[in-house]
Amino acid sequence: MESLILPCKTILPSKIPEKPAQSKVFSRNIPPKLTNDAYLKRLCKLGRVSEAFSTLDSCGSTVRHNTLSHLIQSCIDSNSLDLCYKLHACVKKLIKKPDPFLETKLVGMFAKCGSLDDAFAVFDEMRQRNLYTWSAIIGACSRENRWGDVLELFYWMMADGDVVPDAFLFPKIVQACGNYGDVDTGRLIHGMVIKLGMNNELRVNNSILALYAKCGWLSSAKRFFEGMEVSDRVSWNAIITGYCQAGEISEAQRLFDSMQKEGIEPDEVTWNILISSCNQLGKWHVARELMNEMESHGVKPDVCTWSCMILAFAQNNKRLEALNLFGEMLLSGVEPNGITLMAAISACSSLKDIRKGKEVHLFAIKLGYGEDVLVGNSLIDMYSKCGELESARQIFDMISEKDVYTWNSMIAGYYGAGYCGIAYDLFKQMQESDVLPNVVTWNMMITGYILNGDEEEAMDLFHRMEKDGGVKRDTASWNALIAGYLHHGQKNKALGIFRQMQSFGVKPNSITILSILPACANLIAMKKLKEIHCCVLRSNLESELSIANSLVDIYAKSGNIKYAKAIFEGMPSIDIITWNSMATGYVLHGCFNEAIELFERMRRLGCRPNRRTFASVITAYGLAKKVDEGRHVFSNMIEEYKILPCLEHYVAMVNLYGRSGKLDEAFDFIKSMAIEPDVSIWSAFLTACCKHGNVKLAIHAGEKLLELVPDNGFTQKLVLQLYDLCGIPKDSLKIKRPRIRKVPIEPVSLSLIEDKNVVHTFVTGDPGQLDGKSLHSWRESIELNTKASKYHDMLSFQEEGTEETAGVHSEKLALAFALIKSPQTSQTIRIVKNLRMCDNCHRFAKMVSKIHGCEMYISDSKCIHHFKHGTCSCGDYW
Ligand SMILES: [Zn+2]
Ligand SMILES: [Zn+2]
Repeated sequence: MESLILPCKTILPSKIPEKPAQSKVFSRNIPPKLTNDAYLKRLCKLGRVSEAFSTLDSCGSTVRHNTLSHLIQSCIDSNSLDLCYKLHACVKKLIKKPDPFLETKLVGMFAKCGSLDDAFAVFDEMRQRNLYTWSAIIGACSRENRWGDVLELFYWMMADGDVVPDAFLFPKIVQACGNYGDVDTGRLIHGMVIKLGMNNELRVNNSILALYAKCGWLSSAKRFFEGMEVSDRVSWNAIITGYCQAGEISEAQRLFDSMQKEGIEPDEVTWNILISSCNQLGKWHVARELMNEMESHGVKPDVCTWSCMILAFAQNNKRLEALNLFGEMLLSGVEPNGITLMAAISACSSLKDIRKGKEVHLFAIKLGYGEDVLVGNSLIDMYSKCGELESARQIFDMISEKDVYTWNSMIAGYYGAGYCGIAYDLFKQMQESDVLPNVVTWNMMITGYILNGDEEEAMDLFHRMEKDGGVKRDTASWNALIAGYLHHGQKNKALGIFRQMQSFGVKPNSITILSILPACANLIAMKKLKEIHCCVLRSNLESELSIANSLVDIYAKSGNIKYAKAIFEGMPSIDIITWNSMATGYVLHGCFNEAIELFERMRRLGCRPNRRTFASVITAYGLAKKVDEGRHVFSNMIEEYKILPCLEHYVAMVNLYGRSGKLDEAFDFIKSMAIEPDVSIWSAFLTACCKHGNVKLAIHAGEKLLELVPDNGFTQKLVLQLYDLCGIPKDSLKIKRPRIRKVPIEPVSLSLIEDKNVVHTFVTGDPGQLDGKSLHSWRESIELNTKASKYHDMLSFQEEGTEETAGVHSEKLALAFALIKSPQTSQTIRIVKNLRMCDNCHRFAKMVSKIHGCEMYISDSKCIHHFKHGTCSCGDYW
């Protein structure tokens, strides 16, 4: 350790002995005969470096070191590595004894001409290195951002023990510590600086301060800053940057004020630090105010200020403002750079404003950014998004040094327009180019193929990417497949991929979970849902609000309201979506009291309900048959919350009246509606009329429905039945709607039930593997108790044929499947049906729950029915 703080023993360049000049007598007419050295220098001065080298060869060892140093400088000026090599070879021949001065010059020469390897080669061979040598090599590494090398060199230098950095070299090393995140070395240097008595060197102090601030050691930075005897603008900028990076904008602003009080005027760097950190925190409006303030302080916003603001606007969906700002920037006379142009073009791209985009493009060409890869990439994106693929392709072809983004933007453009084939060709070309496809490219190809229905090719790419492409699959690769399958409704395949992903040890992210969860939003996916939930817990994703919200929603939809509630109550923070998911869940399960209580709780906590909340609450009051309260909430929503009712609220209101049998009020309400009633309103009203046996109004609702959807066979059948009940001749329907001619196609009724991880599908009229005899006797034993009047049946909704014509309804078959096998079951039966349950089956299911003493969930196209002790959660109204 002691060796680290040895006083500086810098070896100064050795003196070069003067050699006597050969001739000092010049003739007037004959050009003076120059000495070798003078001649060489003259050639260098004239830029004839190659000639100088040929001369050098013939000079032998008579050339002075000072002349060689001159030649080295000429090589640096010519920036030619070739010349560097030649000179290096000559110097090696000419110099017999080591000369640290010349060798240091050579290190610098190679570094400056772009070959750090050669610089290191010379450096490594040196037997004596002085402060200049170390400074040259460290400076070279630092210029190329090779911070790790800088730190290694520093430790090597310390181990050598002869040289200690000076006030110029220290800051370079400290800067490397900051960029490499190595605070420990920085602190070591801090100690050295104190022991060396250099703690009054402003340059060194500023570098230490910047290191602490940059690495988030804010309290150390603060203490150091306060202890600095002298500080300048650089010091203030460093400490302000520290606070900005920590997100402590108010403290940064306080420092900003103190700085001015101490008489140091902020410069554009200071302003830009504040502006850019406000933007990073999403406070773009504060940033914009700061920019105005900056101008009023007489500091002109520079290209960094403008670019930062324009980018912030473009990224915060304020694209028009971004473009306006771009215009202002041009007016103020500041020339945009690549970043500004890119931000402006991406704003045009999001706005799909091709006209403006073309203007910016022209401007970019004028400024010489026509072939700039950053600008070009954003242009490709802009032209493809605006549907001008040919222009996009022209730009693509023009960019000579394409990077991976260039290729990806163009491939994405072709996919976006549905040109899978061309995209694939380009992908092939890319593989043969010197830019290899990255994981984004591969994922894009997979997404493109699967969305376009070519599952096989997508899977093939998925398998090939690691083996042939040498690209490691990431979570997004798996997500691409999952999203693709879900897009085509292939939930099971998507779930299969999800499982495979885990068996491969790939952790799903929130995108995976949020896309796969809705695949479990049904009564028979409970096990899968729990499996995904476990995965969420294993991946520590449960605290993400969007995921917790989705879990509440999907648990409710999969028929497990208790789990939904447990998750809801356990959430550390919730938002309006959470409240709504829970409320919708309660309503779906017929738990109106819980839904109303939730609404009260929400209001007590001061959370503002939105339109979805109101729709659920009105429905809950409907389920509770509390018409006045529901009506009050509806008017409260309009008057107090200024929310204009939309269809879902109107439907909820019709149901509110309808469930309580207030048909006239429901009808008046429909007539008073501010918008034209649609199918959902008349369907709700028709349900209400039929459930309460009001044939006249039911006919009105049915006819209204047929006006809107004339071809609906189910409504036609119902209206004809209603006519029959009232004694209206059947052909009056034909007179009203002469278009009805074709035979309505009856939808296939399906019921699904899961048993031992296998989903069984039952179709109405097809008992499948069920034994016909036992099915019949079981049905009879239950139906004995469930007879209904003929009149009641006429008013019943029958989305499928009656059992006399179509055979046993599918949900009964599914129930029989579950119960004939194990009649005394304590299990909860879960069935998913695609059509609306008929009255008969509903009565049957209630009786089953009573006789067998079991619990059943049956979801149909209307709601989830929860049968228990002979009743249903829907209150016989669905
Ligand atoms: Zn039925
Ligand atoms: Zn029901």
